[in-house]
Amino acid sequence: MPTRPNSKPLIQRSQLMRLPRLLDMMYRPAELAEELGIHVDTIYRTYIRNGLPHERQDGGEIYIHGLACAAWVRSQFKAKRKRIPLADGQAWCLRCRIPAPIEAATRRPLGKKRELVQAVCPRCGATINRIQRSMLPSPSDALSDGEGLGVGSGVGLS
Ligand SMILES: [Zn+2]
Repeated sequence: MPTRPNSKPLIQRSQLMRLPRLLDMMYRPAELAEELGIHVDTIYRTYIRNGLPHERQDGGEIYIHGLACAAWVRSQFKAKRKRIPLADGQAWCLRCRIPAPIEAATRRPLGKKRELVQAVCPRCGATINRIQRSMLPSPSDALSDGEGLGVGSGVGLS
């Protein structure tokens, strides 16, 4: 009886091809799954479990930023092929296929803990993206994902 290989690649190339259709907006997991052509369970069981940046609202609904998702998926795909760690202040340039320095970046928050940093590759002029932990200090939740987020905050974003 064949055992199911656990090393199945997280990201298929067919999903990479669909990334450009993701927009600068928040998606529900079902919407994102449809855009990427995957089952919604894959979003929950594989993507989110492996670190896809997402925002969990007070009611428990999950929202995912389209561009952040695209950047994350690409980073996962690259990580499988070459393991070039990005230093602080660098982002991966998809066109040059090497890390590029982040200069004059624009930052936008992704949820409470992460931010999307965008800049222009000084070598080729392509937009480069990096998702990183938010620079803003956040008490006590530095490493815990997924639970305890609502405690004490009481702030509803809508
Ligand atoms: Zn470049």
